[in-house]
Amino acid sequence: MKTSAFERMGSFSEKFSQQLRQLMGQRFQENVPLAAFTTYKTGGPARFFVEPTSAEEVLKLLTLAASEKVPTFILGGGSNLLVSDEGLAGLVIWTRRLKGITREETEVTAQAGVRLASLLKFCLKEQLGGLEFLTGIPGTVGGAAVTNAGLKTSWFSSRVKTVTVLTPEKQTTVGREEICFGYRYSSLTSTFVFSVQLQLLAEKPSLIHSRMVAFMRKRREKQPPPFGTAGSVFKNPPGHFAGELIERCGLKGYSLGGAQISPKHANIIVNTGQASSSEIWRLIQLVRERVKQQYNICLELEINCLGRFDESCGSGRR
Ligand SMILES: Cc1cc2nc3c(=O)[nH]c(=O)nc-3n(C[C@H](O)[C@H](O)[C@H](O)COP(=O)(O)OP(=O)(O)OC[C@H]3O[C@@H](n4cnc5c(N)ncnc54)[C@H](O)[C@@H]3O)c2cc1C
Repeated sequence: MKTSAFERMGSFSEKFSQQLRQLMGQRFQENVPLAAFTTYKTGGPARFFVEPTSAEEVLKLLTLAASEKVPTFILGGGSNLLVSDEGLAGLVIWTRRLKGITREETEVTAQAGVRLASLLKFCLKEQLGGLEFLTGIPGTVGGAAVTNAGLKTSWFSSRVKTVTVLTPEKQTTVGREEICFGYRYSSLTSTFVFSVQLQLLAEKPSLIHSRMVAFMRKRREKQPPPFGTAGSVFKNPPGHFAGELIERCGLKGYSLGGAQISPKHANIIVNTGQASSSEIWRLIQLVRERVKQQYNICLELEINCLGRFDESCGSGRR
């Protein structure tokens, strides 16, 4: 008989929950439905859910979870996430209260939970350019660093100077050259990104603003409205566009339950209202099978899957 992830957590959960309550007070909750925290609006409950406000608190949480062998998941804006309907049998650390942002000369240091929209607003006010390509991406600084968010030719990593990361009992600041960044990839995945120092350019606000408007206009032309999506589902395979391959398989607009391949952009899956994560996941599998059959190309996921899915999605990033 299959046991649920929560059942597998066993009896240690009561002790762990008491320790978290002591550490976090009201910023600790149990069995929190995660659908409210993902842009897909799907996903089951987090067994333990915390909202730290400082690096010290995060360090304590990571250390405690490691010593109790409780799996840890990091949640930013939830805009690149498919969370299992079964939920997450572990500790979810939500970064939204880590929102400090400072400027020194042409450098800006932003904590993990700063929304990209707030970062852009700050930069515009401070007359610092270089990040406008992030306009319309609904993530946080931590999520953008880890996924190396951006467009085809402009990546978050291009502005990164240093990143401060946390692991159990340790805070380290690493230089850009020590981090491996690639297409929607970074070597930061096994750490907690606490803050990022960005190297920007002093520019006229009118110029920065006009670039932001242009990026937003282009996004609106090409993509469906942002509600119920997590952006591009698949990475573009070398020499191809994932959306084009999916469209040529005749799947544009195809629905499975409440999950639909966007009629506007075939590399985007939309929750049309009542989709479950499992329906989105099954639609992803169907797309992969069809593209493999027709073009012998294995599409790699751009979105991150957390929790258990049938087959190989597993936990963590793909
Ligand atoms: C409408 C829409 C448009 C989008 N357009 C784009 C686009 O043009 N380009 C693009 O690159 N992306 C795009 N995305 C995807 C997404 O917004 C980005 O990947 C974003 O950077 C994810 O940030 P987040 O805070 O939401 O991360 P989350 O979705 O919360 O998390 C993503 C991953 O990062 C990890 N993570 C989050 N914060 C931290 C941290 N502090 N430390 C360590 N790990 C962390 C999570 O555990 C997870 O594995 C789009 C999404 C939507 C909904």
